[in-house]
Amino acid sequence: MNEEEIMGMVWKCSLCGFCPKDIECPAFDDDARWESSYARGKVAIVHGMIKNPHLNFQESDLAKERLFSCTGCGHCLYICPSGVNVPDIINAGKKVLVDAGNYPEPHSNIIENIKEQFQDSCRPKKPRWFSSINRDLESSHQTRRKLKS
Ligand code: SF4
Ligand code: SF4
Repeated sequence: MNEEEIMGMVWKCSLCGFCPKDIECPAFDDDARWESSYARGKVAIVHGMIKNPHLNFQESDLAKERLFSCTGCGHCLYICPSGVNVPDIINAGKKVLVDAGNYPEPHSNIIENIKEQFQDSCRPKKPRWFSSINRDLESSHQTRRKLKS
């Protein structure tokens, strides 16, 4: 979805409050119960990041924590009476955060691994197990040749 489509989806939210809570939403923070714990609060964060970048939500630790807590399970989309595609909106927000270099630590390791694998070309390097399988195959060919001779 492009920015216009995302914003069109954001404006569909009627703030009805039917967003999943508690165990229905894995990202819901039962202790905090703040607006940003709910799907609609996350939608509001993404709205702020896209339309009001001067507010610097894209550099906020709370925005990072709230948006990356979303598993993308889609339960909110299933429940929402307005058909707001919250997971896609949150994904758009995650992209803004990633572009700003504001993402959780484990994601840095994933990014480093991808960079390492794809450093010289768009093809991944051969995985480590590849050479050991090659060795095993070669030794089994040699054994078969010996048995035949
Ligand atoms: S259920 Fe849908 S329309 Fe209602 S507040 Fe949540 S996202 Fe908005
Ligand atoms: S997609 Fe995200 S916000 Fe929606 S119910 Fe799942 S975890 Fe919660």
